[in-house]
Amino acid sequence: MIERQLRPRGIRDERVLEAMFEVPRHEFVPMASIEAAYEDRPLPIGESETISQPYIVAAMTQAARIQPGEKVLEIGAGSGYQAAVLARLGAKVYTVERNFRLAELARARLAGLGYHGIEVIWGDGSEGYAAPAPYDAILVTAAAPRVPEVLKDQLAEGGRMVIPVGDLRHQDLLLIARRGNQFTTRVLDPCQFVPLIGTHGWPEKEGWVQ
Ligand code: SAH
Repeated sequence: MIERQLRPRGIRDERVLEAMFEVPRHEFVPMASIEAAYEDRPLPIGESETISQPYIVAAMTQAARIQPGEKVLEIGAGSGYQAAVLARLGAKVYTVERNFRLAELARARLAGLGYHGIEVIWGDGSEGYAAPAPYDAILVTAAAPRVPEVLKDQLAEGGRMVIPVGDLRHQDLLLIARRGNQFTTRVLDPCQFVPLIGTHGWPEKEGWVQ
């Protein structure tokens, strides 16, 4: 996965590559997909949700330039894999998941694997998670129709946010950086995420196809 997918596609940050080498991705997928755990694609994790493809996890993590000891918010815990990669880089991770069952599973899995410094919160992450804010980095791992202002507010000075923004089928991965009250935006990769559903995401009842 590291040598055939991540390096050739431009992931250069050795700390990110090492973290992804260390985190056992096969522990984060259902038994039925275990053989495909290290393939270059997203996989189903139940509840109609997916674990992101390795390249996207690497690209988001690299773009966020995580330093040890930083406080990071992830929105869309899913399997807990991205959170584990962030923790492996030495971050204190808060990860929000709207699906109760997935939140419970991710919490149990991460504890079972011995990850410390990850808090799984059940709730609507489109509103962020105010109590521990501000964050050095925010990673949104579900597709948003626009950048929620409330998430920008929860970024620390010098903070970075990586978020897929677009329609339900196609999005651009954006890197937003905060300097004081100025925000700069860079477009990284085209991507396809499952929808961010909630107050500042897509409404619960809109007829999307996954
Ligand atoms: N980062 C995950 C993959 C995320 S898939 C991993 O490493 O496995 C997207 C996840 O976002 C799904 O689990 C979905 O339930 C969740 N989600 C969608 N809208 C959300 C919201 N408003 N708040 C929190 N989680 C949300």
